[in-house]
Amino acid sequence: MALNTDNTAPENLDSLTKILVIDDEISIRLTLSKILTKAGYIVEQAESGKAGLNCIAKFDPDLVLLDVVMPEMDGYDTCKAIRSLPKNNQLPVLMLTGLDDVNAIDRAFSEGATDFITKPINWPLLVRRVRYALRASEMTKKLHTANLRQSQAQTIAKLGFWEWNKEANLLTWSPELLALFGLPLTPNQGTIEDYLALIPDYERQDIFNMLSSVNPQTNKQTVSLQHQIVMPNQTYMVRVYASKNEDNLVLGVMQDITEIHEAEAQLEYQHYHDLLTTLPNRRMFTEQLTKTVKNSAATVISIDIDRFHLINDTFGSVEGDKILQIAASRINGAMEGQGLVARMASDEFCILLTAEMDYGAISSFVRSIQQTLNKPCQIKEQDIHIETSAGIALAPQDGQDAETLINAAKRARFTSKALSSNRFAFYDSSKETDHSQRFYLENELRNALKLDQFVLFYQPQIDLKTDKIIGVEALIRWQHPDMGLVPPIKFIPLVEEMELIHDVGDWIYQEALNQAKAWFDESMNIRVGINLSAKQFIKPELVANLHRALRESGLPAEYFDLEITESMAMQNPEAALNTLNQFKELGMTLAIDDFGTGYSSLEYLQRFPVDFVKIDRAFIKDMLTNKADQSIVKAIIAIANSLDLKVIAEGVEQAEEYALLQTMGCDEVQGYYISKPLPAPEASAFIKHYNAK
Ligand code: C2E
Ligand code: CA
Ligand code: CA
Repeated sequence: MALNTDNTAPENLDSLTKILVIDDEISIRLTLSKILTKAGYIVEQAESGKAGLNCIAKFDPDLVLLDVVMPEMDGYDTCKAIRSLPKNNQLPVLMLTGLDDVNAIDRAFSEGATDFITKPINWPLLVRRVRYALRASEMTKKLHTANLRQSQAQTIAKLGFWEWNKEANLLTWSPELLALFGLPLTPNQGTIEDYLALIPDYERQDIFNMLSSVNPQTNKQTVSLQHQIVMPNQTYMVRVYASKNEDNLVLGVMQDITEIHEAEAQLEYQHYHDLLTTLPNRRMFTEQLTKTVKNSAATVISIDIDRFHLINDTFGSVEGDKILQIAASRINGAMEGQGLVARMASDEFCILLTAEMDYGAISSFVRSIQQTLNKPCQIKEQDIHIETSAGIALAPQDGQDAETLINAAKRARFTSKALSSNRFAFYDSSKETDHSQRFYLENELRNALKLDQFVLFYQPQIDLKTDKIIGVEALIRWQHPDMGLVPPIKFIPLVEEMELIHDVGDWIYQEALNQAKAWFDESMNIRVGINLSAKQFIKPELVANLHRALRESGLPAEYFDLEITESMAMQNPEAALNTLNQFKELGMTLAIDDFGTGYSSLEYLQRFPVDFVKIDRAFIKDMLTNKADQSIVKAIIAIANSLDLKVIAEGVEQAEEYALLQTMGCDEVQGYYISKPLPAPEASAFIKHYNAK
């Protein structure tokens, strides 16, 4: 039981130091208790080793005074037992031994005693011995905790130490470091070569030189370095601070910064890359271009996918993303490691070439990129064909800074787009005024329909067997008060881009049907063809709209002819097939326009319910001089015949072409040789006159 005197009773009992006295002699127990209690300790007594052990568990003393000589369990056994209790290897145990009993003292220490006190007890000394033992124990505890904390802190900070004795070439690793790299804790010593062996060979020598250069006498008191540690299962990135201490040992603090490094690398990557395509992004491109133009020539090529939004609208953005990924990897592949390619925005890519190239080389490079991009992409088990436009700007002549060059390339791309698909154009500063005109055109176009400024011209088509005009193609023009008659090439792409094509398109078929009905009422029996734009063609309401307009006009369906281009049909062949079938059911005449320029899939041609293929003017134009073109025309006619399709040759300008086509078995021709497109009244007069002869 605890003896306590009131005048020493502290306020907080828990904070008080507790001492357990184990002695079989009651007089000694009582005296010890009394003295220690008076000194401010809380004391508990036990009369045997066994009782003492029980008491330790309950009382949790801060120090034990233990008599050596006791019946049954003596002090040695008791001390050994105390040490074997969990958590009690730090508990100070002072053993009470006989004076000058050297053996007893040795034995006491070997059983784990902290110190000894000789009997008979020198009472004034006792309290001091106890106090010092407690203080030492406290310090040991603190040190232990500090060590533990430090070690934990090191583990958390992924930090450890090594120490290099240069003269003896001994390098000692701290346990934290060994644990960090998953190495066994022993042996913890090796040589500098063992350390260097963990570093990739390309940086090994540099690291060694730096570590060897540490010298407190120079400005190289501390060197800081960063290197990799290559372990069989993982490569670490570490940061090292090395310095030399008074004993001439090089001390290294090593921190594992693999995660930080990876996170930084990841951030840097995201900062400079487009995550969808993994290509560099606009930021990287601009920075790279800025550096390049400072000291060398550069070629900037801007490429985009024509009507990309149509792909997105038709197939959804997931498939659209796929197309972008395919395009990115194709461009990247075609670069063959030269230059830089970046995704700038949605479907816009930019290429930077630094090699000196002439116009011819650049042109063939761009053409080859465009050809790779033209190959079909498999989307939802369909072959999708994409077409692209490209613009080229050169440094220094077209601009001396990144932004100017990128913009110039982009404007050149717009110019090329206005021409046709799959084209490219070099930047031409003299065309700049045209571009400010673009905004003017846009504004004017918005009012054109209201102001009734559009007109349809009609170009006759002749049946080669009967030499009679049996059809016309309606071609739109824009009659503008200041600009005069604007050809469709100048405004249809804009009208499409501005989404005005639906309204304009509605006007076109309405106007064409009215004219066709007028001719029909005059018994002229002229088939009128209109051109559908891609945007119109994929609009779900198109069939219903055309059906209604046709019915309301009262024109028999076969006099109404719809032209769609090959590329429109092939963009989504299954959907096109479906739409065309519906038109066919309504009895309309269908033609594939610009045949031969795109991807004539014979398989689809066979399945499309079309009546005509229109051979593109490109083949007719050189047919007389170019044997290859002539055989293409021949082949198209042969294929069409075998598929029961009729052939119209476009752009016939000369009598010889006309004659040749006739002998080749072509069904109809259209071109300046017969007549240019004419306004309705002139067309009427022309047809009547021609068919009357
Ligand atoms: P396209 O459908 O291939 O029309 C044929 C173009 O060739 C017409 O140009 C026509 O004037 C021209 N052409 C006809 N015969 C000859 C010839 O013997 N020699 C030469 N050098 N050219 C000839 P246009 O009228 O300027 O139309 C150009 C393109 O604009 C058309 O090509 C068509 O894609 C588009 N377009 C014209 N009208 C419309 C329309 O009403 N709607 C839509 N969506 N597009 C239209
Ligand atoms: Ca046409
Ligand atoms: Ca055509």
